Amino acid sequence: VKLWCEHAWLGGDRAEAGVVLEIEGDRIVAVETGADAAPADADRVDGLVLPGLVNAHSHAFHRALRGRTHGERGSFWSWREQMYRLAATLTPDSYRALATATYAEMALAGITTVGEFHYLHHGPGGAPYDEPNAMSDVLSDAAEGAGIRLTLLDTCYLHGGIGTELDDVQRRFSDGSVERWAERVEAVDAGGAAMVRRGAAIHSVRAVEPDEMAVIAGWATARDACLHAHVSEQPAENEACLAAYGATPVTVLDRAGALGPRFTAVHATHVTDDDIRRLGASGSSVCICPTTERDLADGIGLAGPSAAAGARLCVGSDSHAVIDLFEETRGIELDERLATGERGHHLGVELLAAATCGGAVALGWTEAGSLAPGGLADLVALRLDSVRVAGTDADNLVDTAVFVATAADVRDVMVGGRWVVRDGRHVTLDVPALLASAIAEAWDG
Ligand SMILES: [Zn+2]
Repeated sequence: VKLWCEHAWLGGDRAEAGVVLEIEGDRIVAVETGADAAPADADRVDGLVLPGLVNAHSHAFHRALRGRTHGERGSFWSWREQMYRLAATLTPDSYRALATATYAEMALAGITTVGEFHYLHHGPGGAPYDEPNAMSDVLSDAAEGAGIRLTLLDTCYLHGGIGTELDDVQRRFSDGSVERWAERVEAVDAGGAAMVRRGAAIHSVRAVEPDEMAVIAGWATARDACLHAHVSEQPAENEACLAAYGATPVTVLDRAGALGPRFTAVHATHVTDDDIRRLGASGSSVCICPTTERDLADGIGLAGPSAAAGARLCVGSDSHAVIDLFEETRGIELDERLATGERGHHLGVELLAAATCGGAVALGWTEAGSLAPGGLADLVALRLDSVRVAGTDADNLVDTAVFVATAADVRDVMVGGRWVVRDGRHVTLDVPALLASAIAEAWDG
């Protein structure tokens, strides 16, 4: 298959005009620039073609919370009570429907790979399903149905807080011990699916103790799997961690052997200079989730200093307050402008790299995230004729994508050489109808 792209971003300072991508199977095999007109044997793709976007942090079931957590002016408790009510009702069937619809919404938004930070493992009250990985299998099915790649970040969640027992809802999240977590994860069937990879996650310093973290880090190292953790999302977490361990969450994770090129710190909102130095020096990634961090009043992460210290940036839609990686990506720069009173922390191309190759590395898909020979044929085409972006000029296409476009400007999406979205529609699913029915079913239990 040959595609002629009106414009395409190949990783440089600006987008190129007239790019021919030659695709065999699921790979790009050749890239040619400067083709003024579409060759006779090429499909024409109008607009701006980018590598497929990578959503490095998702909790799929939170999609059912959208718009329902702002009562009483949207207090922290109006969010958490709803989240726990929902977490208590989901079944494998209702979760399959909800995750399929959520991942299909991601496909429509130009997302070709998602990292699912998955902790809803067991039945109500913590009773294991007959198939202990029933909920993991549901997520693999969902990604396959939606046509996108998945890294299943199987999350260890053992405690309700530092020195605190699990509550009733949280029992669904826990395997009881880190050894039983490892046993269950070992049995996850991800080997056969070309679109699914496996990774591990430490929920947070609240839910996993340091000696347990070390076991999880060892598991990930032995399998060369990626490892993620929620880190310093709120000041209260830091205070509890300092009181219990005399160290910050980043330091505790570092001592447990978690940090390194396969590690991603999610949020890293309230980190110290020493934390940033450790994340950078270890070559870790930092995943910023601006729309969720705004929604939950977490604060503004220090992406600029983290990147300057050597950490790789990526983005996630996390609670799916919205699913729009363009909004997440510009949020890194725009929120930092508000926090510092200065512009100019990140270049547009650096932010676009966070949303593509940065996320791909964090999720263990190093052959994705760029339009280059040998890379996976995962791409997204943005329209340049919508009312929102019309009038942009060829010199500013990357900045237009990052600072102006929205998920609604996505026209076409290809994953592994197959079209998943054409002309703004999912090729197999009626996504709005699926979302409506899946969310209603999720709340009905
Ligand atoms: Zn999260």
